Amino acid sequence: MMSSPKFIPELHDIGKLVDEKVKDELRNRFGSSWRGHVFVDIDFQKLGISQPTSPSWWAQYHHICYDNNNKTWTDCDRDKLKKKLHTSIVEIDFNCWDFIPQNFGLNLFLLILADHLASSVSRAVGGRGPSAPEGIWKLWNQNYHNSQKKKGKIWAAFKTINDLKNLFYEIENCQSGEEFLSKYRENLLLTPEDKSVPRNVTSLYTHAELVGKIYRVLERNAKVVIESDGTIAIEYNGERVKTIKEAEGDNFIYFKDKNGEHYGKKGKWQARLVKCWIKFPHSFVRLHDINLLRKREELVNCIASYYKDEVIFATSDFITLFLSPNQDLKEILKPLLDWGFYIEVEETLADLGILNSILDEKTLGARKCVEEYEKREDCKKKPKEEFKNQLNVLNSRDTKVYRRYLVSEIPDEIQPHICDICQQRRGIERIKETIREWVCEKCQEIRDMGEPFREYATVWEEEGVKVCWFKFSLDQKKLEDWLQNAFGKYVDSSNFKQANILKNEFRALALQVDFNKDYKEMLKEFWERLSKKLSDDEEKNDIKLPIKEYHELGVFKYSPQLTQKVVETFLDVFDKYFPDCISNENSPISLSLSIASIKYPIREHWRFFEENSKNFLNVRYHKVFDEKYTKDELKIIIEKVINLETSSSFLHKLVQLEERLQSEIHIAVEIFNNRKKYPEIYELFSRGIKPSKFLNLYKLLKGEEQ
Ligand SMILES: [Zn+2]
Repeated sequence: MMSSPKFIPELHDIGKLVDEKVKDELRNRFGSSWRGHVFVDIDFQKLGISQPTSPSWWAQYHHICYDNNNKTWTDCDRDKLKKKLHTSIVEIDFNCWDFIPQNFGLNLFLLILADHLASSVSRAVGGRGPSAPEGIWKLWNQNYHNSQKKKGKIWAAFKTINDLKNLFYEIENCQSGEEFLSKYRENLLLTPEDKSVPRNVTSLYTHAELVGKIYRVLERNAKVVIESDGTIAIEYNGERVKTIKEAEGDNFIYFKDKNGEHYGKKGKWQARLVKCWIKFPHSFVRLHDINLLRKREELVNCIASYYKDEVIFATSDFITLFLSPNQDLKEILKPLLDWGFYIEVEETLADLGILNSILDEKTLGARKCVEEYEKREDCKKKPKEEFKNQLNVLNSRDTKVYRRYLVSEIPDEIQPHICDICQQRRGIERIKETIREWVCEKCQEIRDMGEPFREYATVWEEEGVKVCWFKFSLDQKKLEDWLQNAFGKYVDSSNFKQANILKNEFRALALQVDFNKDYKEMLKEFWERLSKKLSDDEEKNDIKLPIKEYHELGVFKYSPQLTQKVVETFLDVFDKYFPDCISNENSPISLSLSIASIKYPIREHWRFFEENSKNFLNVRYHKVFDEKYTKDELKIIIEKVINLETSSSFLHKLVQLEERLQSEIHIAVEIFNNRKKYPEIYELFSRGIKPSKFLNLYKLLKGEEQ
């Protein structure tokens, strides 16, 4: 049974999946075609196709304008807009939208708002750039489209006039946004949201997905109302408006150009973008306790599916939400709080026109630059006045940025003893193998989820091995910074007149979503590739993914060979998914290794993983060394030294010398004296890589004994 057709916002940009050749073909055959990516002006009769009648058809009108001379509605023309020959729909009173049946007007109204919110650059900025290379331009993987193309994958889902029939069939018959996204996934991921530079950086997949989510959150909070004078208004959160512009306000904050200064005007509708870092006070006493990570995974998935529109994206330890002003955040996160997690929240409330995921940083940044301008070098790129103006606009538009913590209700007093694990509830005495512990019911329930794997506390412990725990991390703050920088560089690479405005109005959200998707793919592939590299069953048994659903964490019986396989596999997959991403101390992605005897408490490994100030690779070899590496350092050391048989004996000698003398200077002299015989090692040294860095890596990957 087909349900009655719904308005599906995800379909609004389906026209972007059509190959440009189809337009030429149409023009050759019928003398006319359609402009842009919407089908408002297409002649269905000539095509011999009937115009779709579904609600979703009206999504095609999201770029519509009123032609003031011809007194008709038509697809917007940028030049005519500038010359005021066209008036954009965003400025036109909802009561005058006579091109659309009244019952679909609200759908289109909200779609246009959602479309603006989900774009990477605010529409206010002109300056469309040079024609772009074909397909999506991923900032962190610039060759992505080319490499997919070589594999025979193509962005265009509709390549001939005949394919247009399928396109209109989708508009007419598609049942849900999910159906559309999964059916055209491959094409959507290769197609940019906008084909011109510098907007070609976001995938159409993520754009459509975001538009769908934001649209439905707005829809749940909006309704059509009749005013006392009989006209219609749209109400959201108690605020009534008649134009889109009135609802969102200006799409920019403040800028200056040849026409003077521009201050963005306030809109009536606001929403919140909320970033949640999920944390826990639990300390892992036994291996069982890491089931908490499985619990966290389950709870995050549960929230993300229950609030599937509000949750813009989620990872194991981070959720970004889009909420209306009055939605209760604590209620949404309650399952996490109930299990003893606490949440660090950063929340931005702003007009829809300017709301984006890095507005919090911009607001706080502008505030700092106004307050401490003289002291801050990073502010001096722009005059102080500009920050002041920016801040004034943000204040006048009621922009609010909050930071807060959400914690579960803890009773004022707890009867002793307190739970050893979470320190939040009363522990119950439990004795196992003569060890007495106090564990609360919730933490015990987590223990009872089962043993992550048997060998750790049995075979491995009996053998008294060293173990290496390893964990991948994605730092969302570093990601935001890097995206802003990388986008800025991309803009600079093509000489825009309005470069600064483009950079200022950049919206990172869609790119964050894309990046996080690729990160998850990378982790999956890491484990697949690693398992192929393991030579035999014994080796396979020595390395574990302790929480099956949680790909960031692994552990193995330490051996130099296995460590090398882990590190090299990471380098391989990182270079596949993120070849153009920064990979030093500012790297959003990192891998940390923690090596110690099996007796060493798991909570201490975890504590190391939670430390800030990470580099690309971080190693703690308990009682041996602590070291951090950029990707370049890591690669060059592996390539020039570790994988070179000739240097091996010399490195071994250096390690012994280092242990005996504990002196960097002696090592340096030794390297210098042997520079002819071991030029590779001298080269590293002369590049400024400290000997301890490559000696430690040598110990880690080749072992101390020969
Ligand atoms: Zn507890």
